[in-house]
Amino acid sequence: MIDAFRASAEALMHGALAKLIDNPFPSAFTERVASISVPNLRTTVLTNIAASLLDTGITVRTLLMNHVINEGPALASLMADDQAMSDYVAGAVVSLWHPSCTCRMGRENDPDAVVDRHGRVIGVEGLMVADASIMPNVPTTNTNLPTLMVAERIASELLGTTGTPATQHRADARVG
Ligand SMILES: Cc1cc2nc3c(=O)[nH]c(=O)nc-3n(C[C@H](O)[C@H](O)[C@H](O)COP(=O)(O)OP(=O)(O)OC[C@H]3O[C@@H](n4cnc5c(N)ncnc54)[C@H](O)[C@@H]3O)c2cc1C
Repeated sequence: MIDAFRASAEALMHGALAKLIDNPFPSAFTERVASISVPNLRTTVLTNIAASLLDTGITVRTLLMNHVINEGPALASLMADDQAMSDYVAGAVVSLWHPSCTCRMGRENDPDAVVDRHGRVIGVEGLMVADASIMPNVPTTNTNLPTLMVAERIASELLGTTGTPATQHRADARVG
């Protein structure tokens, strides 16, 4: 996780991206962020003031980012201090509710694979998995639709209608 965070930060701070991005900073879902996300009169006023100030220009924006919005250390100081980086990652990184790939699909000779291409658990008779856990790689998208696609595909195979989504199969059955 630390390596992934470091690689992302390096990409933001160097080369072509650095020319496009002003002042990248490490964010975290802190208590203050959670409280400002609750819609009420106070947060509406505060976020409108902050939005207006952020639009005034780079100087005010940098000051706000560094001293008000970012509650943690600056990115550069994290990158220069392994212990600070480790503390930050342990305290701030969350899964964002999209866990996947914990039971990944792969070839039978892949030591990391749990299920085969049909969702059957390798080495176990009569046990299948059809959910986000069998995704072979973390998808670069939200997980709900890919999970539905996994379920449709495996349901179709179970129904013997490979290639036809299960919902279509049910619709055909109703028409028939
Ligand atoms: C708060 C939140 C917001 C999200 N927002 C989005 C979004 O905006 N867009 C998006 O694409 N994805 C979103 N996701 C992710 C998406 O919901 C999941 O990726 C998807 O639901 C995964 O499907 P799944 O079938 O793998 O697992 P789940 O949907 O978690 O289904 C697992 C099911 O198994 C049941 N279960 C667990 N243990 C047992 C047991 N022992 N016996 C019987 N049943 C059991 C559970 O009750 C549950 O119904 C969000 C997730 C969360 C938590």
